[in-house]
Amino acid sequence: MKNSFDEREAKEFVKRYSSLPEVLAIRLYTSRLIGKDPALVLHGGGNTSAKLKTKDILGEEHDVLYVKGSGANLATLEPEGMTGLELQELQKLRSLQDLPDEEMENQLRIHKIDFRSPDPSVEALLHAFLPHRYVDHTHAENILILSNQKRGKEFLEEALGPGIGILPYRHSGFPLARAVIELYEDNPHLKAIVLMNHGIFTFAEEADLSYGKMIEYVGRAGAFIQKKIEGKALFTPGASEIVSGNISPAHILLTAARVTSTIRGLCAHEDSGRRLRRFYTELRANPEMIQISLSREAAHLCHSGVLTPDHISWTKNQALYIESVPEEDESLKRRLQELIDLYRSDYDRYFETHTATHETQLERLDPYPRVFLVAGLGLIALGLTRRAARIAADIAERTFQAKLRSQALGEYLPID
Ligand code: ZN
Repeated sequence: MKNSFDEREAKEFVKRYSSLPEVLAIRLYTSRLIGKDPALVLHGGGNTSAKLKTKDILGEEHDVLYVKGSGANLATLEPEGMTGLELQELQKLRSLQDLPDEEMENQLRIHKIDFRSPDPSVEALLHAFLPHRYVDHTHAENILILSNQKRGKEFLEEALGPGIGILPYRHSGFPLARAVIELYEDNPHLKAIVLMNHGIFTFAEEADLSYGKMIEYVGRAGAFIQKKIEGKALFTPGASEIVSGNISPAHILLTAARVTSTIRGLCAHEDSGRRLRRFYTELRANPEMIQISLSREAAHLCHSGVLTPDHISWTKNQALYIESVPEEDESLKRRLQELIDLYRSDYDRYFETHTATHETQLERLDPYPRVFLVAGLGLIALGLTRRAARIAADIAERTFQAKLRSQALGEYLPID
């Protein structure tokens, strides 16, 4: 991992954003450094914050937490993507025994200092409770590889060294924010906190130090993984005639066209407003994805769940594996129909099971898969926009690779 903090660039940011307080200008700079590194952040995952004093319209000074707003991207973060919140009001919430998600959302909205700002991240309270001026949070792949492990805690302790807090998985929101601050207050020497199956938080009084810790710990995790899996085969290769290139690229393209058009047809549906929705598709037929799609591990990779819950909104929890592509169009359609129907009923059952005990009504999404792994062809991702399809493909591609490394290390174990 490379620490890209550059004093000269940081000063340029302060100059370019001279209308902002310096703390915020530097916050934008290191947020972008984090956002630009795909090993740290993929498509909007992760968030950062800064605490500072600002004056209101009456000239009175207040402590304000600026935290990344939802929908903003760290790589291209602008001041409008940061939401200012009344820090002391949020810190008071800590004394509550419980704060349901809906009320937390309400509190985050009513304590904005500018009504036009986007809604802040669901992790905003965690940023508010930690006392440090700068807090950085990512779902870095190397941390996820280690924390989605049967022996995850042990591996993390060995890889990252002393001074790291490790918390078991908890749903993001008030309980997680409270668990983090309680852990920190009991152990004020902590330099970073890892949330199992979720990601890592670093914090400091200076932006370069908080960013530097992020790079250092994610780098240590990477070096540990590399050392442990060195020389190990990541998967067991399958059907050699395709892997060896005996099947022409033209044939692969033709197959891709048949499979994607069939999938698009079978997954077209009416949404709740009776609008016809058709998915965009994104194909990743590079040699590595083709090899993975033919490997003995392919089906398990599809069924073993996401690296971090944040990915579910793009990829759903499971991918759909297509073990072979029939030559006949009718048989292809029939086989895909069976698999998609099964996926849909599984998804509906999953929704029913996990919302049965929920107090509030949750929104049921469409039950269609977002990621297909097709033997001999590679990966096909779906999205209701071209961008969503591309994001799902990026995440799924890196997830397959990360899960293979995780398997080589021990036993991949995501949240259930
Ligand atoms: Zn997170």
